[in-house]
Amino acid sequence: MLRRLAFLAFLAAYSLGGIGQAHAQAQFDVSVGDIHITQGVQDITQIFWTELVAQRNTAVRVQVNRVTGIPGPITGKLHVFVDGQEITPSGGLDALNNGFVPPPNTALFQLLQTEQDTLNFELLADDVPLLLNPNVDVSQNVDFMVEIFGDNDVSNNTGQVNDLTLVRRYSPTVIHFRLLWDANSATLNNQYGEPQPMDDRMLQAVWPIPDNYVQPPVPNFVPPELDPSYSPYHLRAHILTDCNGDGLITYTGNRNNDPKCQYNNVEVTEYELILNRLLQWRHGIVQAGFGPDDYTYVFGWVADGGLTGHDGLALQQLDSNGDGFGVVSYGIDHPERGQQVLAHEFGHMIGLDHNIPGRALNGTGWDVGARLHQHPLPMQDGGRVKQAGGIYGDIMNASGLETTVNTWIDLQNYQAVLDSPRLSPAYRRLRCGEINPKDTETIVVYGLPGQADKQTVIDVQAFTYPWCTEPDVAPEQPNLIVTIEVQEPSGKHAIHAAPVNARMLLPGFEEKGKGLTLAPFATPLPVQKGTQLLAVTVESLEDAFSPVKVIPSDHEPQVTILSPTPGATLAAETVISWQAKGDDRLSSQVLYSVDQGKSFIPLAVSPNGTKFTIHTRDLPTTESGQGLIRVLVNDGLNTTYQDVGRLSIRR
Ligand SMILES: [Zn+2]
Repeated sequence: MLRRLAFLAFLAAYSLGGIGQAHAQAQFDVSVGDIHITQGVQDITQIFWTELVAQRNTAVRVQVNRVTGIPGPITGKLHVFVDGQEITPSGGLDALNNGFVPPPNTALFQLLQTEQDTLNFELLADDVPLLLNPNVDVSQNVDFMVEIFGDNDVSNNTGQVNDLTLVRRYSPTVIHFRLLWDANSATLNNQYGEPQPMDDRMLQAVWPIPDNYVQPPVPNFVPPELDPSYSPYHLRAHILTDCNGDGLITYTGNRNNDPKCQYNNVEVTEYELILNRLLQWRHGIVQAGFGPDDYTYVFGWVADGGLTGHDGLALQQLDSNGDGFGVVSYGIDHPERGQQVLAHEFGHMIGLDHNIPGRALNGTGWDVGARLHQHPLPMQDGGRVKQAGGIYGDIMNASGLETTVNTWIDLQNYQAVLDSPRLSPAYRRLRCGEINPKDTETIVVYGLPGQADKQTVIDVQAFTYPWCTEPDVAPEQPNLIVTIEVQEPSGKHAIHAAPVNARMLLPGFEEKGKGLTLAPFATPLPVQKGTQLLAVTVESLEDAFSPVKVIPSDHEPQVTILSPTPGATLAAETVISWQAKGDDRLSSQVLYSVDQGKSFIPLAVSPNGTKFTIHTRDLPTTESGQGLIRVLVNDGLNTTYQDVGRLSIRR
């Protein structure tokens, strides 16, 4: 209250000064009406949100009412206070459209249709140190105050919205990569999906997450200057998922296997194979000794024309409430729709289903900071206003992605993500930190559903990674139990069991609980370093398939890296090749480290054969002699790896 009095005193002094002279000329009076505060949502029923996300751009749209006379141009200032401290510049933030002429009085929501219907302000996270502070904590006391100038009666020229809440939400780490999907075209760059030029701006624009996040997958991951299109989020991935070699990744909505897609005598679908590979890819991302956590999402871009029957797919499992969660997805790199697909699949990963039919956008949204202004035509709308109705659709509309030019976000979906525990600080757990990561490694059990003899089966593979990853939250509605039997370094036998929800909600099924199918899964189990894996068992709790028990062979696989050699300087195109020996089916993962093995990014996951070519322009900047390549070879359960280090990159 003290602050408010001081503020009004300041206002009065200001109005009596130089600007007061101009006011004396005005033959009209206007007043501050409704104040609309938004961070992106498109809704008609709520003027402002009581919860604002810290570190996120905010728009303030002010209705200015005509009181007497025909108004001339006016100007405005915005003041925002957090716990009594003004976070806007001293003297207030200028309106975007100073010189604004208030239109005839009408209801606020009708006034929101164009930018010139309201006096507009944008509080950009970039410009406000407090909003940029990642440690900003919850505040119950965020006040907005608007003042206008230019009319002849200043007594009705301020308006306030008080006691909003500032909440902290974590940024998701979305790792993008170019997916190579055509086994027959492995040497053609144009077969990689290309991340769209807008990066993830649409994802940022529609979902309640911070605007200013920089979370490179590894420390010191700086784009090489040689390649302006390079982005650390755009790793080139050798993930060959076109198993039948027809140049397409098919989605049929059911398990309609191609007999050419056989893995370990299990027939799988191509979309499940991609999801399985993405899960593997994710576990190869290591930052300073830690593997992925619950905030690490992976999105693969597939070349346009490579997907049939779908634009993208997210692996979405269900928790006890029937709500989904997931960590991997992929989508088409269509120049106009690609951004929407990414934002849509993220919606699935964070837990949203498709909108039920009939649920349409009913209000006007605002693209704060005109983040999407550079969006390729015809998706570009040239301004900040996101209109409602007609061809405009919510981002979680299953069919709207193909037809809307202005896809945005409705109240229910925005609120659901705002409330998602996966973006809240309380959700962050550091189990690896609790159990000394130096002594911990992770056995990740992968399951890939498929068919054999017309029976549902699970192809089980267990990879041991020499680092610690954050285990997922145990689901309350598991449909599988994954058990590993191990011998610890002390000689002690131990059994670790993990309940797993490996269900997938297939597109086209808008109702919860419908269209569920068994899904690929990855279950990380942290163990003491040096632990020996004795057996893996996967059991269905719903009799979906017979239990699978796998025991390792007596012979560990062997791997020898042939190229490059230790101390090598990598040429612009470098062949990585290795020799692998083992009794059983062998698969590989190839990883790169900029810091002698503290951090890693994957280069290839289950590549065909034991050789492929990398372009060093796709690798992060590396200090001379600090680069390291690690090749892990797995025979189904046993994992062996070899490193080649002291590598340098010639730019
Ligand atoms: Zn969808």
